[in-house]
Amino acid sequence: MARYTGPVCRICRREGVKLFLKGERCYTKCPLNHKKIYPPGQHGQIRKKLSEYGLELREKQKARRMYGVLDAQFRRYVEAAQRSRGVTGEVLLQTLERRLDNVVYRAGLASSRPEARQLVRHGHFAVNGRKVSIPSYQLRPGDVVQVRPKSREMVRLQQLQEVARTRPTPPWLSYNPDQWEVTVVRLPERSEVDAPVEEHLIVELYSR
Ligand code: SF4
Repeated sequence: MARYTGPVCRICRREGVKLFLKGERCYTKCPLNHKKIYPPGQHGQIRKKLSEYGLELREKQKARRMYGVLDAQFRRYVEAAQRSRGVTGEVLLQTLERRLDNVVYRAGLASSRPEARQLVRHGHFAVNGRKVSIPSYQLRPGDVVQVRPKSREMVRLQQLQEVARTRPTPPWLSYNPDQWEVTVVRLPERSEVDAPVEEHLIVELYSR
């Protein structure tokens, strides 16, 4: 499936916010820490007032790029959220958070979502004891994600595990570093989702 493989800092500049797409570098060498933020490109410095549609579109793009989801899949997530009984925006964020690659990232077993995606793709994780290599796999409360026994010998995963020990885990996840496993305790509430996204604008965009 087609993926964006170009420079990722450009995406953060486009959205005007840090999206943490590069792992450790985002905390140490982020160009947005000391440069004025303006969109990339020849006309990036020209200030334009965005229309209502423009604002909604930017919010959708920001969420989509932050979670590494393509347009068609993002639309499917929104449509499923619209069909659900809950608040559409919140259900949408829960769907994005429940992706396997996101849970791996949130637990600290990857330094960024792109890295989590790659680790999942390479088959380093199992869900409830069965190998899963689909980054978009939707987890449910009670599911247990484990680093597969052979993958525990990987230097990179050992480094990540050490870092993950020191990082706080979101309250809706439970991380057991000694067992190399993450349990989805429950669905996240909006206040527990650290995402600079105004989801109501996304819902309005798809309701047009
Ligand atoms: Fe680049 Fe990360 Fe900073 Fe975004 S947050 S601009 S990806 S270093």
